[in-house]
Amino acid sequence: MKLDVDVLRYLSKDDFRVLTAVELGMRNHEIVPTELIDRIARLKHGGTYKVLKNLLKHKLLHHDSSKYDGFRLTYLGYDFLAIKTMVNKGVFVAVGRQIGVGKESDIFEVAREDGTVLAMKLHRLGRVSFRAVKSKRDYLRHRSSYNWLYLSRLAALKEFAFMKALETHGFPVPNAIENNRHCVVMSLVQGYPLVQVKQLQNPETVFEAILGQVVRLAEHGLIHCDFNEFNIMIDDDEKITMIDFPQMVSVSHRNAQMYFDRDVECIFKFFRKRFNLSFQESIDDNDDSDEGRDEAGKPCFSSIERSAGFLDRELAASGFTRKNEEDIQRFIEGGAESDTNSDSEGVDLVEDLNEADTVDGDSSHLSVEELNEADTVDDDSSHLLEQNEGYKC
Ligand code: ADP
Ligand code: MG
Repeated sequence: MKLDVDVLRYLSKDDFRVLTAVELGMRNHEIVPTELIDRIARLKHGGTYKVLKNLLKHKLLHHDSSKYDGFRLTYLGYDFLAIKTMVNKGVFVAVGRQIGVGKESDIFEVAREDGTVLAMKLHRLGRVSFRAVKSKRDYLRHRSSYNWLYLSRLAALKEFAFMKALETHGFPVPNAIENNRHCVVMSLVQGYPLVQVKQLQNPETVFEAILGQVVRLAEHGLIHCDFNEFNIMIDDDEKITMIDFPQMVSVSHRNAQMYFDRDVECIFKFFRKRFNLSFQESIDDNDDSDEGRDEAGKPCFSSIERSAGFLDRELAASGFTRKNEEDIQRFIEGGAESDTNSDSEGVDLVEDLNEADTVDGDSSHLSVEELNEADTVDDDSSHLLEQNEGYKC
């Protein structure tokens, strides 16, 4: 997806005020009536309408007049709100090239004021799945706009919370720096995804290190659930870093064993194919390493001393609640396939979106606070990227 951050430079305080007003309106409208946007934004002399036109031109909003005249945020509009907030907080000053395109995320380099380069992940939960599902049976009854905002934000919150907790426990993960909306900023991992690596000096050592992390995660009560050559980075010293955590589950999950075995199998399969590893040999070399493994050398989930509860204990303080986890799992596991309860699910998610913001239900009251925040945002927006010419998308 194209992220032309240059546009940010030309957006005024009023532009962001109206964009924020649309975001607020989307808490309880799929398409926010134009008139409501105007009421929330409270720009003088009908200024909202002119601004809306400008935002539409830059594809930050989508116009819909099928039922009534209104607007919703596009991904790009949501991106800009998050990026703007990050810039205001001083997290980074410029957005650079895109370094990753996942199924449900886009990853960019961003630069701090001192030139340090970080990674910014913009979650796009629902980008693939909802579209596919929508074509099948109009999942969530036209409410998908709420859901991609809500789900992408949940995915980012979860990823951030997990990354922080894993780092605290000494796991090789990026340093989690900041989270806002659907955006996570983290340290840039040096190296490449394992899938791009054709040769290793010590494939056995790397293999054991990776497998060791799967086991250690389980000992801490967690399963990655997408542990494969795309989500393991490796540097020139053949040190690994794990990435991509929104789908992680607790070892107490009803399908935990299956997820664990699948992660293990992915690693075995990849090393067998890519590096011709013969696992029996590699484990026979080592006296202790076959402990808790089956005859093929695979770690047995049942023989790992697992400490369930890691999720609850460590993540409660992060703002990522059990309810959030249930919602995201419902989407990841069943949302796309399950045909049951689709209507009520949709409604639930919309309610969650409203709840999740700890609002008192009075959106006009909220909008004042948030719009004031949006106001403070903008004074230095013209500097954005200017200090970093040559470092643009
Ligand atoms: P997705 O959930 O879409 O798969 P990932 O978190 O796996 O997203 O990131 C996709 C790709 O972006 C990775 O394969 C990797 O190449 C790159 N990437 C992600 N995070 C970082 C990071 N912190 N540092 C460097 N590259 C990264
Ligand atoms: Mg990935």
